[in-house]
Amino acid sequence: MHGYQHTTVNLTATSITCGALILAGYAETALALGAGLAFGTLLVTPDLDLHRNDARRRWGKLRFIWAPYAALSRHRGMSHTYLAGPTIRLAYLALWAAPLAWGAQHLQITPTLPSWNHMTIAIIGYFLAQWLHLLCDGIVPLGRSDHSRH
Ligand SMILES: [Zn+2]
Repeated sequence: MHGYQHTTVNLTATSITCGALILAGYAETALALGAGLAFGTLLVTPDLDLHRNDARRRWGKLRFIWAPYAALSRHRGMSHTYLAGPTIRLAYLALWAAPLAWGAQHLQITPTLPSWNHMTIAIIGYFLAQWLHLLCDGIVPLGRSDHSRH
């Protein structure tokens, strides 16, 4: 599946899910989930294991941060797993963000962070975006990896 097809499928699912949540009266949950889904669809995707892909391009001048990740990842290897891949990408991003967080703390800049509840819902959204990508790639959870990848 091409990058734009992944984006279309994921954003459609995001719109339907968040739209339903808003209609049901859960606007804050929809916002947090939508943020996670969009983050996992547009910026941090399993295909960051490729040197050229839409997500990496969207990082603009910061796209260089994903070069080591792509260099260390075999396409559709660990990056295309259900738990390890998405978790490694978040941890990898945290490594880059850590000096910024340290610098902000050092400069006594205290940004207002979302609540733990909203952060948790956003992380769930991020994982859902990753899993939808994997399903669209034909990779099923707990499937035999040597048969499920093309
Ligand atoms: Zn993929």
